[in-house]
Amino acid sequence: MQNLRIPGPTPLPEEVLKALSRQMINHRGPEFKKILVDVTDKLKKLFQTRNDILLLTGSGTGGMEAVIVNTLSPGDKVLSVSNGAFGDRFANIAKRFGAEVVPLKFEWGKPVDPDAVRRALQAEPQVQAVLVTHNETSTGITNDLASISSVVKEFGKLLLVDAISSLGSIDLPVDKWHCDVTVTGSQKGWMAPPGLAMVSVSQEGWQAIAKAKMPRFYWDFTQAKSDADKGQTPWTPAVSVFYALQTGLDIMLAEGLPNIFARHARVAKAARTGVRALGLSTFAEEYCASNTVTAVTAPDGIDIKKVLKTLEEQYQIVLAGGQSRLDGKIFRIGHLGWVNEADIAAVIAALKVVLPQAGFRSTT
Ligand SMILES: *Cc1c(COP(=O)(O)O)cnc(C)c1O
Repeated sequence: MQNLRIPGPTPLPEEVLKALSRQMINHRGPEFKKILVDVTDKLKKLFQTRNDILLLTGSGTGGMEAVIVNTLSPGDKVLSVSNGAFGDRFANIAKRFGAEVVPLKFEWGKPVDPDAVRRALQAEPQVQAVLVTHNETSTGITNDLASISSVVKEFGKLLLVDAISSLGSIDLPVDKWHCDVTVTGSQKGWMAPPGLAMVSVSQEGWQAIAKAKMPRFYWDFTQAKSDADKGQTPWTPAVSVFYALQTGLDIMLAEGLPNIFARHARVAKAARTGVRALGLSTFAEEYCASNTVTAVTAPDGIDIKKVLKTLEEQYQIVLAGGQSRLDGKIFRIGHLGWVNEADIAAVIAALKVVLPQAGFRSTT
């Protein structure tokens, strides 16, 4: 079996695969209603929220677009806090729909500095909303969302969070940290295939939605909420992904939140310790390193793409490369969802053989 170690999609447990093969049902009937209600209730536990949760058929990026078009109007000023490719994507979506984006950029590989967010909000009193990426998957960094959120709320601004690769894997108490709209995707830490974006909306979020004028049809949250109250979705949902997500959530709740977070912390630590023992450096410093994805700096003079190709062909281990400006400069090990220490040990063992073959000589 392939050891798929990218930051989503992730391998699926046997029970989830079985759930995926179930026969279709009427998405306007009582069986689907039961599933939608159950999945929503279970997601609330994992989001640690009492607020509404909407299930949208689409990928994570679709969910990000949904967050933007439902909460903002063209011409609205938004502060985009970005330290990587996904932070930039959030800003680009807002720009495309006519928001006036004030960029606050941090070096790729460094975490967001909450004090810089405070200075930016002092300098830009007209800002309506702040866009933040909790876990920057492109660089393997988890931003200090608790501190960022408390700064954003000092100024009473709307907080829109891309938690696509953190929710369900890394502690993110959505209500406690006053996240107004928070989005995640089924193929990340949820032991489910791609196809669903899950979004929480706070009271302040709904107030913003009532005023927001960006065009929306497929992603309309007001419509999604009124249909959800009837046990339906506005459009035909990815029924099979619902089956899978429901099963994944059962597995997750049986493990329990603290255990899930601890397992991700353990596995991530094993990944970082393992790559360092090989003489490699992690791209992120230890204090801000992500528990769902480890970015590793490609050693000088080594063709890292060739290394990844060899890992796949000879060891059935699939790692991720770097995105955009980090292409060829880093590689990434995904460790979210259904993952344990043995999966990471296999990656490290294979790297130990393949790297020297590619000419790597450890100096440690
Ligand atoms: C994966 C990811 C996305 C994009 O999700 P898609 O499902 O590929 O559209 C956005 N943001 C973050 C932080 C991600 O990890």
